[in-house]
Amino acid sequence: MSEYIHSNLNALERSATLAINEYCDTLEKQGKHVFRFGFGQAPFPIPDKVVNSLRENSFRKNYLSVEGLPELREAIANYHQSFDNVNIQSDQVLVGPGSKELMFSLQLALKGITILPTPCWVSYSPQANILNREIIFIETRYEDSWQLLPDQLNESISNRTDQPKLLILNYPGNPHGCTFELETLKELATVCRKNNIIILSDEIYGRIHYQGEHISIARYYPEGTIISSGLSKWCAAGGWRLGHFSFPKELKYLQNIMSSVASETYSCVSTPIQYAGITAYEDESIDHYLFHCKRILETIGQYCASTLIDAGIKVRIPKGAFYIFPNFQPFEEILNKKNIFDSKTLCKRLLDDSGVALLPGSDFGRDAKELSARLAYVNFDGEGAIRTSMDLSKESTLTMDHISESVLDITNGIREIINWIKS
Ligand code: PMP
Ligand code: GLU
Repeated sequence: MSEYIHSNLNALERSATLAINEYCDTLEKQGKHVFRFGFGQAPFPIPDKVVNSLRENSFRKNYLSVEGLPELREAIANYHQSFDNVNIQSDQVLVGPGSKELMFSLQLALKGITILPTPCWVSYSPQANILNREIIFIETRYEDSWQLLPDQLNESISNRTDQPKLLILNYPGNPHGCTFELETLKELATVCRKNNIIILSDEIYGRIHYQGEHISIARYYPEGTIISSGLSKWCAAGGWRLGHFSFPKELKYLQNIMSSVASETYSCVSTPIQYAGITAYEDESIDHYLFHCKRILETIGQYCASTLIDAGIKVRIPKGAFYIFPNFQPFEEILNKKNIFDSKTLCKRLLDDSGVALLPGSDFGRDAKELSARLAYVNFDGEGAIRTSMDLSKESTLTMDHISESVLDITNGIREIINWIKS
């Protein structure tokens, strides 16, 4: 009975990403063909060595320490030292059942306001709502390649000096694949230091920056930045549910409270998965695997964005991850004639009419009337594409022609979108 539910939960629905995934499953079971650009799941197989490691460790049955397996924490700390050039030691790492759960527990533990530059990933604000936290949304702009600008941050907090603040940054970003320019990152670090803002730096796509140029804001604001990452994206192991936070020493009190919350809620992450996680972070062949994943994603991302741009749709070329955030505003008149005035209706009608699944911009914190949507270019045969890329020399440029058989649903799906929007 709804009167027995906390009032802030009455409007809570299933998370948009998981809901579209399940809905596409249902449509496919009914025999419909769906172009699955909705859910953002890594399309590649998990590297063999990591899978073998899980197999070899499957006999392990005991609970591990709440913070995580010491050898895994060590491997994660080493990874941050070499990849991000930040001074993280193993005792600063907290392993959790997906970074999503750690984000929830962070928002649970901290007092104050959550600051979200939009468009942003679907779960940050519902988590804050569940916890009755106040949110400040800051609209970033296509013209700024979706970067939060230091002035925007300053302005948003100008009369909020008394409250503790948590800023969530995500780069390369879901839902747009863009990232920060170095100067912007440095200036944001300065604003945060001056205003005592804690940054949750969601770098889950950092390792799939296509040019390998990801830079963590923790380099410029080490004392106030928590780095979040995990196995879900670069290691293609979303369903394994292994994420981690790295805390600055200055935020030890927060790490301790989150560990206590963990001990009273999920206890620890699955033991065999943590052992396999050591292989994921330590095995050097992963770099070879990642080279090919990035090359393929870059080719497909570039194709999707530039084809839509050529058709007159506003979208940025992605620099990493596997998302673009097209804006269909240039087709507003045509859409209005079809009785489409908001992003939710846009996505529903596109799915009903042509079987293309996107997620509406409103799920990413944008105004409902903005005709934007997220497209996740993951509906391709990752195994086939990796095989093709591995057969091609590293110096060559991988084209859509090389992987054409693996990406049929991408090319056909993009064509469907364009035909639909222009019809
Ligand atoms: N942050 C972003 C930006 C994401 O896209 C996701 C989706 N996997 C997550 C965090 C959560 O990832 P996980 O819980 O699998 O670590
Ligand atoms: N992060 C993925 C997405 O944005 C899905 C996983 C999730 O939302 O938990 O589609």
